[in-house]
This record gives sequence, C-alpha cells and structure tokens, in this order.
Amino acid sequence: MNKVQQLDTFRVISEGVGRFDVQGKTCLIPEMNRIGCHLLAGVFHGFGINATVMDTYKGLDLGKEFTSGKECFPCVVTLGDILQFMKTEKERLGNRFNPENYMYFMPESSGPCRFGMYNKYHRIVLDSLPGLDKLKITSLTAEDDYALDGLIPQEKLQGFYKAGYLSVVIGDILDRLLWRIRPYEKNTGIADTFINQAMEQMRESFAHYAGEKNFSGILNDLVHIVEQGKDIIDPQVPRKPLIAVVGEIYLRSHLKSNQDTIRTLEGYGAEVINASIGEWVNYITYDQVRLAKTALRLNVRKFHLKAVRESLLKYLKYNLKLFYQYVVQRKVYRLVNTYIDIRGDHKIGHLEKALKTDNTFSFDIGTEACLSISSALEHAHQGYDGIVNIFPFTCMPSNLTSSIAKPLMAKLNVPYIDVSYDGSYQPGREAALRTFMYQAYQHFNTNGRP
Ligand code: SF4
Repeated sequence: MNKVQQLDTFRVISEGVGRFDVQGKTCLIPEMNRIGCHLLAGVFHGFGINATVMDTYKGLDLGKEFTSGKECFPCVVTLGDILQFMKTEKERLGNRFNPENYMYFMPESSGPCRFGMYNKYHRIVLDSLPGLDKLKITSLTAEDDYALDGLIPQEKLQGFYKAGYLSVVIGDILDRLLWRIRPYEKNTGIADTFINQAMEQMRESFAHYAGEKNFSGILNDLVHIVEQGKDIIDPQVPRKPLIAVVGEIYLRSHLKSNQDTIRTLEGYGAEVINASIGEWVNYITYDQVRLAKTALRLNVRKFHLKAVRESLLKYLKYNLKLFYQYVVQRKVYRLVNTYIDIRGDHKIGHLEKALKTDNTFSFDIGTEACLSISSALEHAHQGYDGIVNIFPFTCMPSNLTSSIAKPLMAKLNVPYIDVSYDGSYQPGREAALRTFMYQAYQHFNTNGRP
C-alpha cells in the first residue's frame, strides 16, 4: 500500500468512528458486565433513545474468522457480537434491513494497551462487508473522561451523565448482591432467578425515571429489591472464605469469556467480590485530575498564564466530577448497607497511596495494572482469603499485574492465582482453582473471616 492509500485508509477509519448523534438510531451496546449494560440501556430509553444490549458470545466463530489470533480476546468477542447481531437482523428484516438505523457503541481508552484500537479494527472489518460500512461506530474515550458531547443534545448531557453514573453504581450493587446471597441461598438457583428479575425491574426503573431525573424513584426500587434479596440468605449457612477478583475489566466482568469463574469458585466454597465497574470510571476521572495537576504545575513553572488558567479550570472540573461520583457512590452503598452488608470500593486516591507506601508500582505507568496491584494489596491487608487475577491471554497490563502481585501476595501469605482466557477450555483450570480454594480455606481457618 502506498502512502496516499494509507492516508486514505486512516481517513476512512477516523470518519467512521467517532462521536455521532445517537438520536433516532438503535444504539447497540456490547454486553460486558451483564447487569450494568442492561441498566445503561434503560438510561438510553429514559432519554428517548432506542438501545439494545446485543446477545453475546454467540458470534464467537465469526469474531475468530475475522481476526488473526493475535488480537486481545475482548476484541474478538465484541467483533463477533456485532457481526452476529447484524447477520441476525438482516435475516429477521430482509429488505427492510438498513445498517444506517443502528449505532454501534464501542468506547476506547488510550495509553500503552490496545483497547483504543478495537473500534478501529472493527471499522476495518465492517467496511469489508457489503453494506456494513454504513453502520457508524460511536465512541467515547477515556482521554476526555468519557465525555458525552455530540451523542445527545447539549441540554440533556448532564442529566444523562448523572443517570449513567447511577446505573454503573447500581449495576455494581446488584452484582455484589448476587455474590453476597448466592453462596448462602436457601434453595439452589433462587438467587440467579431473583437477580435476573431484579435486573429487569431496575432497567424499567431507569427507563421510567432517568429522563425526568427522578433518582429517588430509582433508589426506592433498589431498596425494595435489596430487602427481598436479603431474605434469600439461609442464616444457618456459616460464612465462607472471602475471595477478591481483580484483573482486566472485560474478562473479569464477562461471564461467558471467563467461563463463569466466580460460579466455579463458589462451587468450591467461596464468597467472591469482583472489582467494580465504578472503580474504573472513578479511576478515569481521577487520572484526569492527576494529568491536570501535572500540567498546572508545569505551566506555573513556565509562567504560561493562559495555560495555567486552562489547566486550573480542568483540574477544578475533574475534581468536582470525581467528588460528585464519590458522593453518589457512597450514598447508594450506605443506603444498601442499612439492609445488607455489601462491600464498597476503595477511593482511587487511597489505592494510589497504598502503592506509594509499598513502593511497588506507580500510577504514572497507568493502565489497569495500577488498580489491580493496589486492590490486591489492600484486600490482602484487609484479610481477604485469596486473590484471583482474571485476564485475557497475552493482556499486557494483566501480565504486569501478575509479575508484581504474585510475589507480593506470597510475601503476605495470601493465596493468589492467575487465570487467563482465550476462548479455549483448559482441562487443568478447575483443578488449579480447586487447589487455590483449598489454600484459601487454610487461610480462612487460620485467620478467620475478615
Ligand atoms: S487491557 Fe489487555 S486485553 Fe484490554 S486492550 Fe489492553 S492489552 Fe488488550
């Protein structure tokens, strides 16, 4: 390919991926964490935008067909999801099928890892298939803290952001409610059935209340669910070893990709808490605060007054945003904690301090590794009985996590295991998880419940 052709290709990619108005389209949300994605679809509905969470993992073969095997596994899964969805819609609608009626939602992040490339690669594949070049990919980027400008009208932006963030927090809480009650359920299967119904109810709640910013209505519905969920616990079942899951956000949240590791661990007697999606959202905002602070310092030193003003405004803006997110998160967890003991998140600043104290890694390096290592450390200090690092095979930040967290946990005498996935089934995996749980029980029997 010559230079001109290359430039043309880049132009086409950048034109077909960006912030596009989603109004009047059906917004296609790839499923990552199941509950949170459905609640987000509810928020879209609340603002009058049609949105659907695509079936996931059914198109894995298609995803593999259009990748080389070197890509990150989440890229393959999500590509399969969109291709399968388009194929099914085409069969369902026949001549009425028009890719322009949809908007594929695929966020990105910058930095040393490859998440920023998924949507570009998906663009190239979609452009190679008849008609699918018309399907636009709308993207939010971590570089500007997932700002929503351009997707919906300006006057609705703030309300949408607030409802969206609340949906993230409540999605996390419903996940944690499931992990809190399922290991202790009175009858096998009732926790799963209950949480599926709860997800539907909360999605409806967001669709009903989000547009009118009636967050009390949403919280009232949540309380009702939590009260019911608590009754599923059999008080006769003693508490179990507590396991924390850290790792790459997609793999640890996507049940099919991680072959439902949490359920497997529960099968061997664990109570599990996975790192939340809210933690990642807060981290992205926190990172913007850090960047603005660094820029501010530099500009003051250089005496660039205009730049000082700009970075100061940015610093204040992101600080305010982070403050808002923490307040909402704390308020909702506190509310839920009056009914049931569900663990909350660490503040990101606290995690950074933990890393600094231990002098093991730095937030300057970025990526999820700084969150995973610091969380593992904090959980170990809090007395958790084991740490599981879930990630896609070849994931760069997660391998970094592994190389640092593994010896750290060994030093602290906390059981630790890496579990990587690439869509294949490894016969030894269950044995490894079972052995890990044996060690976790030993830790639990020696140290008691944290
Ligand atoms: S975090 Fe890992 S899996 Fe995700 S894009 Fe980066 S390298 Fe790939």
